[in-house]
Amino acid sequence: MPIVVQKYGGSSLADAESIKRVARRIAETRKGGHEVVVAVSAMGDTTDELLDLAQGVSPLPPPRELDMLLTAGERISMALVAMAIHDLGLTARSFTGSQAGVITDGVHGRAKIIDVTPGRITGALEDGHVVIVAGFQGVSQTTKEITTLGRGGTDTTAVALAAALGAEVCEIYTDVDGVFTADPRIVPAARKLSRISAEEMLELAASGSKVLHLRSVEYARRYDIPIHVRSSFTPKEGTIVSDHPGPEGEAVEAPIIAGVAHDLSEAKITVVGVPDQTGKAAQIFHAVAVAEINIDMIVQNVSATETGLTDISFTLPKTDGQRGMQALQAIQAQVGFAGLQYDDQIGKLSLVGAGMRSNPGVSATFFRALADAGVNIEMISTSEIRISVVTRSELLDEAVRAVHTAFGLDSEDGEAVVHAGTGR
Ligand code: ADP
Ligand code: ASP
Ligand code: MG
Repeated sequence: MPIVVQKYGGSSLADAESIKRVARRIAETRKGGHEVVVAVSAMGDTTDELLDLAQGVSPLPPPRELDMLLTAGERISMALVAMAIHDLGLTARSFTGSQAGVITDGVHGRAKIIDVTPGRITGALEDGHVVIVAGFQGVSQTTKEITTLGRGGTDTTAVALAAALGAEVCEIYTDVDGVFTADPRIVPAARKLSRISAEEMLELAASGSKVLHLRSVEYARRYDIPIHVRSSFTPKEGTIVSDHPGPEGEAVEAPIIAGVAHDLSEAKITVVGVPDQTGKAAQIFHAVAVAEINIDMIVQNVSATETGLTDISFTLPKTDGQRGMQALQAIQAQVGFAGLQYDDQIGKLSLVGAGMRSNPGVSATFFRALADAGVNIEMISTSEIRISVVTRSELLDEAVRAVHTAFGLDSEDGEAVVHAGTGR
């Protein structure tokens, strides 16, 4: 029997009723002639609640213990889904990430999957069971510790399982009908895409579009696994993420723009009064790299001729903000800069589309739309198929809607439906 991997997000598993609904969906797929392997997220906002609980106990919990705590969320879901499947007359076996053979590196909180050894999964399938795997977690072969893959990581668990099992498709069930031209929670006129290239989906995910975990798209692209993003609340077809042309073939001209992403998860650090000399930027970014912080955008101002000093700003995840500031404070005397500013009231907006490569005028339309909406731009960065800007966070939603409209992406046929979830 062909294998299908399905992933159910937290909003699809919010309570007992939802779990029974998901179990029915899994049972239908099984009865339709597929082996089914399911990756589950923690119920509803469980992961956020566990994080709040940890914060209440300790301001800086040891990463090992935080991973122990967070992986409990997915274990609850996996057992409950397996129970609900039993009640439908099928048998199911649940497995933790470690039991399922999800091997990661040893980095707590954002571990990378390095291998999947799915012996227990294939064994359970051969015995006629539906397999339920706890998402977002694995085990490190070097440290022997339990790890988590980072927020939203169950998508990556699902794609990694699909690749290891040779599944024909990885279905990601969520609380919206697919991948839209923008987050439907912000842009009610967003349009559902029937297909999107993995290349464009990668840029959207990297730009903050949390409908898919970034690494799940990287993984799917590397192993050539088609992803089908769809809603667990309706039978409708969702969005296929694949670099291969759809049934309509290449004849259909792809639209210039795939979509607009927004991101409120970053902060900005400005290093003020940096001597404009060779090697200063290297010292600054070396310190940030040693602290294992991934930076995103960088801007260096033109130095003032009278003073020979310049300012360097960069963005980084808010969750790394304090560590970034500490790393820079430690080298202030050595680099000789005047001070540091921390700003977490920023928002990033990105326009993504493979058609940007060959269509002039995209930037002009983009910046005109932002100007007309009264949005001031603080930083700009581009790739071949993306333009991103940083603005004040309170202007971000308005800016996203303005850009969406300016590129003719608004749909006429009704508002995009958000079926569930708190968007937390
Ligand atoms: P799950 O719990 O199922 O993993 P997530 O909250 O991680 O769900 O991802 C789904 C959410 O992603 C949607 O509810 C939506 O608010 C958001 N989202 C952001 N950008 C997009 C987009 N371009 N298309 C669809 N959803 C998007
Ligand atoms: N439960 C984890 C989170 O909320 C993983 C996931 O849902 O994918 O981030
Ligand atoms: Mg998610």
